[in-house]
Amino acid sequence: MPSLFSKALNGVSVKHCKNTASSAAVRMPVPDKVVIPMIQHMGAPCEPVVKVKDTVTVGQLLGDTDAFLSAPIHSSVSGTVTAIEDFITPGGDKCKSVVITTDKLQTPCPDLAPPVVNSREDLIKAVRACGLVGLGGAGFPTHIKLSPKNLDQVDTLVINGAECEPYITCDMRLMLERTASIVEGIKVVMKYLELGSCVIGIESNKPEAIAAMTEAVSGMENVRVLTMKALYPRGAEKVIIYEATGRVVEEGKLPADAGVIAMNVATISKLADYLQTGMPLVEKMLTVDGGSVAEPKNIIAPIGTSIRDMIEFCGGYKSEPKKLLMGGPMMGISVYSDDFPLLKNNNAILAFDEEQCRPVKETACIRCGRCLRACPFDLAPAAMDKAYHMGNVDKLRELKVNLCMECGCCSYVCPAHRELAMYNKLGKRLLREAK
Ligand code: SF4
Ligand code: SF4
Repeated sequence: MPSLFSKALNGVSVKHCKNTASSAAVRMPVPDKVVIPMIQHMGAPCEPVVKVKDTVTVGQLLGDTDAFLSAPIHSSVSGTVTAIEDFITPGGDKCKSVVITTDKLQTPCPDLAPPVVNSREDLIKAVRACGLVGLGGAGFPTHIKLSPKNLDQVDTLVINGAECEPYITCDMRLMLERTASIVEGIKVVMKYLELGSCVIGIESNKPEAIAAMTEAVSGMENVRVLTMKALYPRGAEKVIIYEATGRVVEEGKLPADAGVIAMNVATISKLADYLQTGMPLVEKMLTVDGGSVAEPKNIIAPIGTSIRDMIEFCGGYKSEPKKLLMGGPMMGISVYSDDFPLLKNNNAILAFDEEQCRPVKETACIRCGRCLRACPFDLAPAAMDKAYHMGNVDKLRELKVNLCMECGCCSYVCPAHRELAMYNKLGKRLLREAK
């Protein structure tokens, strides 16, 4: 087995904290205002195609671009465009955003209709038109993922239902509540991409989801459910591909190079819904949780809804939040304001209270080696930490900091509380700048 993956099936045992596992998703009322940024995906930002004072409807195109790596963005509400203004994403990218004051009528765009799909080309075109991106967090445009150059060598679809981040339960709810959509999406992708088999990977701490999906695919010869050990980060793309197929996505390569297309359960479910209804990606199911939230639950919210409005729908704050996260505690992004809007690839909002954010003092590395043992990719976090702090770009390159997926396992186990994943992130930036 190549060394990159010699420990891929290890992981760290994190507290699951799946408090909302039994909370069926509830659709929240349409907020007064949404803010829809023109970048919600990996790749180039869209340019707004609407202007201030335009009336818009649900599913209407708001922004698009000719850039290869991008995905169009649609209105999640009906109402009036009240501003087009600069927006800084939680990741620090700058783009325009379309601000819409809603009319609460949710009038659908009259041009919408289910796409006609009779070929792979039709499917790819439809997926792009829908604005679909990886909904598990990565935000990679799905139409590009479904168009690998070596499609003739791709034979397996891997569906990611691991949901290994603590607190988040929306994918599990989706597997219970939208089982048929997931199965339909699998059928469509396997048919038009001529894939011979499909593996649905789910962690063992979701027995209900495993049972529901197993029953739903019981008549499908080439589709199976794989129960995975509940160890973080089983849901990382390279890790689940390895566990599901035994294949390694080598350094600098894509899943397709290993003969695999990997999709999250939410992405495949939305694909099926779009083919049936013609409604693009305009809303999201997500988990709202954390010690500061009065009534944690799974909700369905229009894209562009502010964190504040979503938390308000969950009973409001019961204590002052000390940390707001978009995503899970291991890989989520910390934001400084609850003004931030829901983006396509957000799967959780966590508002942690004082108890959950007790500050810990970072101390010097004691060379215990725990971070080395924890890294699923056999990287050397302590050495990368040192190289980053010395500004040693050559060493960072030699240590392959660019392979770090920022899963946070190393930081989690470090007794000196070193922010190793963050230093790797900054180290990668240093490498990019050096180029
Ligand atoms: S954050 Fe990077 S270095 Fe740390 S365990 Fe994950 S992959 Fe390894
Ligand atoms: S886990 Fe922390 S203390 Fe131990 S070797 Fe790694 S960086 Fe040093």
